[in-house]
Amino acid sequence: MTAGFSEDAAAISDEITELRHSIHAEPEIGLDLPKTQAKVLSALAGLPLDISTGQALTSVTAVLRGGKPGKTVLLRGDMDALPVAEHTGLPFSSGIAGTMHACGHDLHTAMLAGAARLLSARQADLPGNVIFMFQPGEEGYGGAKLMIDEGVLDAAGERPVAAFALHVSSGLLPLGVAASKAGPAMAAADTLHVKVRGRGGHGAQPHHASDPIPVACEIVTALQTMVTRRFDVFDPVVVTVGTFHAGTTDNVIPDEAAFVATVRTFSPRSRDLIRDASVQLVRQLAGAHGLEADAEFVDGYPVTANDQTEFGFAARTIGEVFGEHRFITAPNPLTGSEDFSYVLEQVPGAYIMVGACPTDTDAATAPFNHSPEAIFDDGVLADGTALYAELAQRRLAEVS
Ligand SMILES: [Zn+2]
Ligand SMILES: [Zn+2]
Repeated sequence: MTAGFSEDAAAISDEITELRHSIHAEPEIGLDLPKTQAKVLSALAGLPLDISTGQALTSVTAVLRGGKPGKTVLLRGDMDALPVAEHTGLPFSSGIAGTMHACGHDLHTAMLAGAARLLSARQADLPGNVIFMFQPGEEGYGGAKLMIDEGVLDAAGERPVAAFALHVSSGLLPLGVAASKAGPAMAAADTLHVKVRGRGGHGAQPHHASDPIPVACEIVTALQTMVTRRFDVFDPVVVTVGTFHAGTTDNVIPDEAAFVATVRTFSPRSRDLIRDASVQLVRQLAGAHGLEADAEFVDGYPVTANDQTEFGFAARTIGEVFGEHRFITAPNPLTGSEDFSYVLEQVPGAYIMVGACPTDTDAATAPFNHSPEAIFDDGVLADGTALYAELAQRRLAEVS
């Protein structure tokens, strides 16, 4: 048994931290992250990696070929920031107005670069290959899907047998404590766009018009009834109407009323059901009132589903490397969504949350990811780096 990676990670923790601070201070949003990409390429320079960069996005794919024969595993770190104005007061705060690494992807990028370094140092003993997937555009841009389209899963010449992603959280979990679950770990997040088409007129003479507003209101509440009557209570569904727009003034009936809802599901079955049922409900309820409605269900990220075996492996690894007290089996999925789900649709794997809440803050009340006040503690960086490396090295050793 070779020694673990914790000491190696501690030895390079200054560099990992420096890289994290540099990325944090210059956050970039979306699929085009040239500065972040340059920092990653510079951190990987000189390592024995096959490196390629993306066409449609500024991704970095690095492949480490081990000195011993074996399979391939994939490690993913996302690199993009959010349109949030930072209010943390940290010395390395964002220097770009209105842009912040409020989801901790700067930590993921730095930890994955650190893991590439640690695994490269043990290349001769590595029984197989590791694909390092540095991904832009996680926050709503589907960057993982674009990287799959550009071949990241085939970068080593064969499909990975397992894929792992870590995600830090600024609250919820104490520093260094990891959590995940088998099966669905995060929701599918889709969007329902509705436009009820009536006929405008005078507010005092509704019978000469076709008022779309009460019909649209009825549809909004009927969607909630549908959730409770047509879906299994143990396979939850969330529908939230986040925008609703109609009309200009009190005495004019408008031509149209429009709203948009987010739809969260945790199984392909419920997702398929609501995709059709919601559209049908909108059209037919409008029809019941003599109006017409356009309804479009737009697919977002699918359910992030952890493989039973790979989840078990990851939980065991964390217990062995850091101690049993550092892993919690999450009772429920999170209702957020994550585009690593596209990788997990094709490769069995696990998505693990890792607590990065500062030790002087109560994790239960700390500002969570996406908050302008979210603080991710540097103290998680060395362990996160070691964990990425352990997951790859141990999984390859088990399947070789
Ligand atoms: Zn996020
Ligand atoms: Zn995130």
